[in-house]
Amino acid sequence: MTEDKRSEDPGIGHNLPETKAVEPERRANKQPDQKHIVLSSHPRKGVVGAPDIHWGAATAKLRGPVIGSQANPQQRNVIGVHSGAYGVYRALAIAAGKLSPIHRPDLTNTFPPVDIPPQPQWQGTERIVSMDPWGHLVAAEFRDEIAQGFDIRPTIAITKARIQLPELQGALRSGRVKADGHILLENGDTNVVKAAIEPVWYLPGIAKRLGISETQLRRALFEQTGAMFSDLITRHDRKIFLPPIGGITLYIFGDVANLASGMHEIACRVHDECNGSDVFGSDICTCRPYLVHGIEECILSAQRGGSGLIVYNRKEGRALGEVVKFLVYNARKRNPAGDTAAAYFEKTECVAGVQDVRFQDLMPDVFNWLGIRRIDRWISMSNMKFDAMAQHGIEIVKRIPIPDEMIPRDASVEMDAKKAAGYFTDGTSSAAVATDDLADTKGRTLDRY
Ligand SMILES: [Zn+2]
Repeated sequence: MTEDKRSEDPGIGHNLPETKAVEPERRANKQPDQKHIVLSSHPRKGVVGAPDIHWGAATAKLRGPVIGSQANPQQRNVIGVHSGAYGVYRALAIAAGKLSPIHRPDLTNTFPPVDIPPQPQWQGTERIVSMDPWGHLVAAEFRDEIAQGFDIRPTIAITKARIQLPELQGALRSGRVKADGHILLENGDTNVVKAAIEPVWYLPGIAKRLGISETQLRRALFEQTGAMFSDLITRHDRKIFLPPIGGITLYIFGDVANLASGMHEIACRVHDECNGSDVFGSDICTCRPYLVHGIEECILSAQRGGSGLIVYNRKEGRALGEVVKFLVYNARKRNPAGDTAAAYFEKTECVAGVQDVRFQDLMPDVFNWLGIRRIDRWISMSNMKFDAMAQHGIEIVKRIPIPDEMIPRDASVEMDAKKAAGYFTDGTSSAAVATDDLADTKGRTLDRY
C-alpha cells in the first residue's frame, strides 16, 4: 500500500488478495480502493454523513432514515444489512462479480398502491420495536436525501395480487363462502393487498420486551451468530439492527382503510410458517387447513363490509428451523410408545433444548403499524399469541378454532397435544382432551408414511 492510497482511504483493515473477477467490475464503477476490509466498528476520522436515528419520533424527517447499505459505508447508521438472510446472497453476487457493490436501487414507480398512513402507535419507543413503520414510505419521505446521494432503501413493500387456492373453489361449491365479484370471484380467485416487511430491530426496545438488558442482548446476538456482527459490541451508538432472519408477509382482504378505523369488523389469523404443510400439503399438522380456514374467515369479514388480515411470519418450525422439525418428526414416530400427543412437545425439547423460540412478544408490532386496536374474529388457538395481543392492549373479541372436519388425520396428535397444553378450544368439538387420553392418540409410524 502506498502513502497516496493510505491518504485516500484511511480505513483500518487488513490486506486482502484481490480476485480478477472483481477487478474489472471495480474499475467500471470507479469505486474507492478496496484492498482492505473496512470495519464499520472503526469509523473513519472526520467522516460525517450518517444521519441520526431518533426511534419513535413523530415524523419520518425527525426520526431519520435507516441506512443499511454498504454502497457508501460512511452513510450507514445501523448494524447489519438490508434484506434479512438474503444479504448473504447479495454478498455472493458481489464476490462473484455479478453485482456492483455500489449499485443503488431505482425506486421509480415502486411506491405502494394503497395508503398505510402514519398512526399514533408509530410514536414512542414501546409499541413498535421490530420493524420500521416508515419502511414503505422512504422513497417519498426521504426524496431529498436520496437525491443528495443517500442510499435509503424501503424495508416494506406493498402491492396488489390475485390469489388462487383450490380449497376456496371447494368452499364455493359447498356454499361455505359465496362469490361477490369483487373480493371473491366466481372461479374462487381472490383479490388481496399484500405487504412484505423486513425486520428492523430497535435494540433497546427488543431488550425491554425480553426483560433483559441491552448489553445482554447485544452480547448474545454477537456470540451466538459466531461473531457475525462486531458492531453489536463496538458500536453502542448504533441502536438499530437489521437481523439476518425472515420477515413478515401480510395478505389483506377488503378495504385496507378499515383496519385502523375502529368501526369495521376485522378478522385475522397470525400464521407462523410451516412450509411442509402450507405449500406441500403435509398431513402431519393443521397448518395449511388452519391458514385456509383463516382466509375463508377473512373473506367473510370483508364481504360483511369489514376487512381480513393474514399475518404470515417466516418462523419455520416454531422458529427452530426445518432441520430440527424433521428430526423431531422422526423421534416422535420412532417413539416405542408410538407417535403420541403425550410426547409431542417433549420430543421437540429433546432435540432443540426448548419447545418454541418464536417470541410472540414481538408479534403485535405489525398491528400497531396498521393502527389496529381490536380484532373481532381471531382465527387461532394459540394462547401465546392471544396473551401477547392482550399485553399490547389489542382487544380480541372472539376466538375461532378450526372446525374438526378440516383437521387431517395424522394431525390429531398435534391437535390433542396442543389442547392438553392449554391452547384455546371452544368446548364444542373434540376439544376437551383428558391428559389420560393423550397416550391413545397415535400418528402413523415411519414405515407407514
Ligand atoms: Zn405445520
